[in-house]
Amino acid sequence: MHGLMQEWPLVCHKIIDHAARQHPNREVVSRSVEGPIVRTTYAGVRDNARKIAQLLAREGFQPGDRIATLAWNTGRHLEAWFGIMGMGGVYHTLNPRLFPEQIAWIMNHASDRAIFTDLTFMPLVEKLVPSVESLRKVIVMTDAAHMPETALPNVVSYEEWLDEADGDFEWADVGEDAACGMCYTSGTTGDPKGVLYSHRSNVLHAMMAAMPDAMGVGSKDVILPVVPMFHANAWGLGQTCPMIGAKMVMPGGKMDGESIYELLDTEKVTFTAAVPTVWLMLLQYLEQNDKKLPYLKKVVIGGAACPRAITEKFEKNYGVEVIHAWGMTEMSPLGSLCTMKPQHAGKTGDALLDIKQKQGTAPFGVEMIVTDDDGKELPWDGKTFGRLKVRGPAVASSYYGGDGAEQFDEDGWFDTGDVAHIDPDGYMQITDRSKDVIKSGGEWISSIELENLAVGHRDLAEAAVIGLPHEKWGERPLLVVVAREGCAPSRDDILAFMDGKIAKWWMPDDVAFVDEIPHTATGKIKKTALREQFAHYRFPG
Ligand code: ADP
Repeated sequence: MHGLMQEWPLVCHKIIDHAARQHPNREVVSRSVEGPIVRTTYAGVRDNARKIAQLLAREGFQPGDRIATLAWNTGRHLEAWFGIMGMGGVYHTLNPRLFPEQIAWIMNHASDRAIFTDLTFMPLVEKLVPSVESLRKVIVMTDAAHMPETALPNVVSYEEWLDEADGDFEWADVGEDAACGMCYTSGTTGDPKGVLYSHRSNVLHAMMAAMPDAMGVGSKDVILPVVPMFHANAWGLGQTCPMIGAKMVMPGGKMDGESIYELLDTEKVTFTAAVPTVWLMLLQYLEQNDKKLPYLKKVVIGGAACPRAITEKFEKNYGVEVIHAWGMTEMSPLGSLCTMKPQHAGKTGDALLDIKQKQGTAPFGVEMIVTDDDGKELPWDGKTFGRLKVRGPAVASSYYGGDGAEQFDEDGWFDTGDVAHIDPDGYMQITDRSKDVIKSGGEWISSIELENLAVGHRDLAEAAVIGLPHEKWGERPLLVVVAREGCAPSRDDILAFMDGKIAKWWMPDDVAFVDEIPHTATGKIKKTALREQFAHYRFPG
């Protein structure tokens, strides 16, 4: 028997229509790439999005076409997203921090047909255009006065282009399962893989993100997404904010401590989100300049494990609630958020920090399990760790072009490549990447846990742990460290510091001292490079 309710497809242009009707004057404030702070409203964003959709359709772009964006977080970038989706197209965010060859490879793989870009990236776009044959148009998000000289064909300034349209356009009639967005994984191992979001997955993800025990945001909030729109959809905030009518504050290209503080303060931001390195810079700025955060209520920290010291400082020194979150490009990206359940009411101090170290619980819409290598489900006991697998309406069912099929199984589980345990209350904690976990005598040792412990040593600036071949045990951990400036800790001193804090058989077999540990484009430790560096290393004895 069929339910007798209306068919109302979950499409993204309904989000911006809702914002423009219910919150027309709510502001979208941007630090523009040209310099000054500029302001628009949700009504303004919808008007420009309609013009963009009208122009793209008029110029022959078709529903399903991939339209790239290479841009900072600004109101214009948001308009471009809704315009592209409203024409039935697929916005494709590009990460400018990748090498130009990687970006060109990704654009060719996606067959991007047009690109919206910021002034900042014009030199990069000039390099890319000749190697991407599918590309037909470049829209530079600026006005006539700031338009740079260029020899590229089919280049327009955004503002002049918009002047050609009146915005009298009906959103494309696409179904909720149609593709509307695209983002490639960073490809730290192998080629990048394309994740293709649908209207439905974006709408459901935005609702999920806003829920009280997820981000817990509403129309009264002022939200600053420091996390870039090209980093996994700005964690969904580009859709969540207009859906709930929150004021948006967009940082443009400036994400240093002082610039972020200035926006937090002048725009009275209540909620913000970014990776740990951004918050390290902000906290340093606050401390050095004796500043406070009177308006900020919550900060979401994810993308990499949030160090305990950051959580502690935000909560104790500034009265800001930290929500540790975990996710992936493949999950739109939210997978879990660490907010407290009733059984944790009244917890304070170290007991609370212990929970906040975890990556948190899955909201409705995300199912998660941990399994062993044979796919057998492991207990939720807070210590048995295994492969973390997920499924849900905003989780990828495959990669674009069928790459990476081995990560998806027949029961619909996606293998995240992360290793984790889940406690009886449902709180998940990442212990490693599956490629980095150390397999010693058939048992697993968490490299992350060893690293977190080692960096607690006062003389160490950074630590990384890799597994290296061992005749008897298969693999054993090697601790690689960078000493703090002016310090010269010894191998025995470091091992003595760790001794007693972990199981005996987890103790690293040796400590190697280096000047620098290699990092990826997103600031994570590059273990592949480290393993290469130590390929000829042999353990003592
Ligand atoms: P990028 O490499 O560009 O950051 P993703 O955002 O998709 O791409 O990376 C997802 C991966 O980042 C996860 O699989 C996980 O390994 C790691 N990650 C994300 N959030 C956290 C977190 N809070 N703690 C530990 N690792 C995390």
